[in-house]
Amino acid sequence: MPRFCPTCGNSSDKVRFLGNFCESCAKAKLLSALPKSVDITICKRCGRIKAGKSFAEPSGRNLEVAIRPQFGRCKVHLIDYDDASAMLDVSDDTMHGTLSVETKVEIVQKKALCDVCYKKACNYYEAVIQLRGNGHKISKFIERITRFFDLNNEFVTRIERESSGGYDVYLSSKRLAQAYLSRSGLHSTNSYTLAGVKNGKRIYKNTYAVRYE
Ligand SMILES: [Zn+2]
Ligand SMILES: [Zn+2]
Repeated sequence: MPRFCPTCGNSSDKVRFLGNFCESCAKAKLLSALPKSVDITICKRCGRIKAGKSFAEPSGRNLEVAIRPQFGRCKVHLIDYDDASAMLDVSDDTMHGTLSVETKVEIVQKKALCDVCYKKACNYYEAVIQLRGNGHKISKFIERITRFFDLNNEFVTRIERESSGGYDVYLSSKRLAQAYLSRSGLHSTNSYTLAGVKNGKRIYKNTYAVRYE
């Protein structure tokens, strides 16, 4: 006995069925239930996009990560995109089989400040490395630590020249400052200044004094 699609009347003798509906009506139903636009959060300073929990370079891969959760249980694969829209391949695993459709969505840009740019904007710092002694070694150190912080998504807040000829380097992360110093095997004299209390925890700013011979 052939079945008939309740939407278009097509018979299961002629076309493929998925559950009670013919395949093309099942696809149309899926298409109409999918979002027509997606929200993408973009940092207005650096242009990175929010992909998952953190901000990342605006690549196709990261755009796909940002779009995926907006499609519920469906699998989403990015086919093509520009600033304003994205072409997606969306598939839904139903109990009667997998349905796949292509759909174009509008990209709605939401401007924000990413965590890094926000900290930069308020001159945030957690640690200071005080460099004294050999000027050549000091400039090499500053070059290297700037690159290291960049690569790890942190930054040098500012660099101050001291009257003695030394430099104070203000850094956005004490964890990273500590990691850099132990990695480069430099001996430092450390001190800790209470900067405030946050959620009942004492917050310290760390100072590392390094002397080059
Ligand atoms: Zn139909
Ligand atoms: Zn940013």
